[in-house]
Amino acid sequence: MVYLNGNFIPKNKACVSVMDRGFLFGDGVYEVFPIYGKIIVGEELHLRRLQEGLDTINIINPHSNENWSQLIRDLISYHQDYQNQSVYLQITRGCDNDRKHTHSDLTPTVYMQSTPFVSKSKNDLLRGSSAITRDDIRWNQCNTKSISLLANIMYAQEANNHQAEETILCRNGVITECSSSNIFIVSNGCIYTHPEGSHILSGVTRKIVLNCANDCQILAKEKTFTKQELMQADEAWITSSTREIMPITSIDGILINGGKIGNIWTLIYDRYQELKNIN
Ligand code: PMP
Repeated sequence: MVYLNGNFIPKNKACVSVMDRGFLFGDGVYEVFPIYGKIIVGEELHLRRLQEGLDTINIINPHSNENWSQLIRDLISYHQDYQNQSVYLQITRGCDNDRKHTHSDLTPTVYMQSTPFVSKSKNDLLRGSSAITRDDIRWNQCNTKSISLLANIMYAQEANNHQAEETILCRNGVITECSSSNIFIVSNGCIYTHPEGSHILSGVTRKIVLNCANDCQILAKEKTFTKQELMQADEAWITSSTREIMPITSIDGILINGGKIGNIWTLIYDRYQELKNIN
């Protein structure tokens, strides 16, 4: 079952007009909520980011947070056979009579679907993962969770073609984030991640990881680092709602710290697992 504009309907019955500005222009925003059993991790933070995205592109939020919360819970209750599910929520500006770049006030199109997801076990993560690097050619508003994801999907596909987990992005020598995750490094016992702003999507997992570092009394700085610092780091991890915290042990075919998984990853990962169950 999926949710479309007020109704729960089977996925194969869900249709959107070709006049929808999401289809024609990618004019909309989205969110992904990770759900473990019935626990929605970071619900408030995801809803806040949704509101910020809607404000940025001037779409009036069609629901209150209480309504969203209920709708998400209604949707997941159709999929009780899924142990963990990720709910994808998309809001586009809606349908116009004709295709034109400008728009008048339209009724937003609201779509939600749920997909089962399996987070990798700690043992799997301990085997390490690889990534490639590419220049970050994206626009200067990466903090908006836009459904226009052309660059991101091209980077994801390139990683996939190289049997890599992710593409790490580099803007003017500085590492920003990845195609669909944030990136952290550890150097001399301190955790670094790119500061919030227009060059990264401020991940909810990123925020939770920074809180975990605080809980574990590990120094964490929201400070840029270069590609050279990444390659020489003691640890590198990527974070996202569905990947959680994943160690990257090889980048562009070069091992990071000899391919060893660091102790700080273990501490942060364990703390994250504790938190996600009491969220
Ligand atoms: N950056 C980008 C570009 C992303 O697409 C995502 C995943 N939506 C993230 C970072 C991680 O965000 P979150 O932790 O909220 O899933």
